[in-house]
Amino acid sequence: MALQRARPRLRIALGCIIGLHLVAWAAPSLGDTAMAAAGAQALVPVPASASGQLPAASNVGCGAKGVGLHGLGHQGVALQVLGSGGPELQDKRASSSYLIWRAGVPRVLIDSGGGSALRFGESGATMSDLDVILLTHLHVDHTADLTALVKSSFFESRHRKLPLFGPAGNQFFPATTRFIQTLFASSDGAYRYLGDFLNPNATDAYLLNAHDVVPGAHEVRQIYDAQGTRIFATTVVHGSVPAIAYRVELDGVSIAFSGDTNGNNGNLERLAHDANLFVAHNAVPEGATGVERSLHMPPSVIGKIAAAASVKQLVLSHRMLRTLGHETESLAAIHTSYTGQVTFADDLQCFPVSR
Ligand SMILES: [Zn+2]
Repeated sequence: MALQRARPRLRIALGCIIGLHLVAWAAPSLGDTAMAAAGAQALVPVPASASGQLPAASNVGCGAKGVGLHGLGHQGVALQVLGSGGPELQDKRASSSYLIWRAGVPRVLIDSGGGSALRFGESGATMSDLDVILLTHLHVDHTADLTALVKSSFFESRHRKLPLFGPAGNQFFPATTRFIQTLFASSDGAYRYLGDFLNPNATDAYLLNAHDVVPGAHEVRQIYDAQGTRIFATTVVHGSVPAIAYRVELDGVSIAFSGDTNGNNGNLERLAHDANLFVAHNAVPEGATGVERSLHMPPSVIGKIAAAASVKQLVLSHRMLRTLGHETESLAAIHTSYTGQVTFADDLQCFPVSR
């Protein structure tokens, strides 16, 4: 039996270069941020986590698996880790992706690496509820499932615009706007059969606006302010890959995302200042050198940044085979600087975020 289309047409409009009509965010002084959250509990990962076996998600504040989103009585803000792994499939984790829930409704999606579209569905989220998508950079383990998510929305009934933000391009990577065109352009896109997404004349579908984020070298720039959510972006160093870290503020709480970075340019400390939750990537073990270190933060650097920023809670994600099983030493390296709560993330894990 043929499927009925939920709605006739969708479209994507490729948007502007971010830079106009936006205000730079004046980060608070860091003069009083040397003290970490003393006395907070450090969580030691359970063995099942280190072995790649996924524990049951609590889903407190997030959508319930297999249950409709609305009317569940969820309150407040929560972060759900959709993908806690890196590019390796043998880690038995989806690649990088995060979802911010507000009162039981998914609002902000950060990255969509391979496998995360399945986790997105398992979380109970729908594309129709999202306010905005943020891409930290355009590596496969952060973007591969974006097309699956967009295609899934074909069967929903979204009509309002869906902004999507990501880095500008360089000689090695396309700009985010170009990336979206490369995927969906009806003329020459890889998925040109989804050409309806680019139909500029469509009036009965939602508009996916792609934006290139171009903050100054050491600027923390506000890129989004709508429906009670404010989002800030700053440039981070990830080898030759254009990369952005984000801070999302809503309902009086803040969540910062490092994305992939070596943490070397000093911007993360300001972006994550006083954040209620800081998601950092545990992609390399302590002592990493060479290319690994040039691309990623070792645990000691994560700890220094978390301490300098005085974040309330640290979540370690983007776990890889080279860091899985090394949680005890990673935690020790972090705790040389940061004494707040540290949790090693697993897929679908839910973190309620309160002031
Ligand atoms: Zn990555």
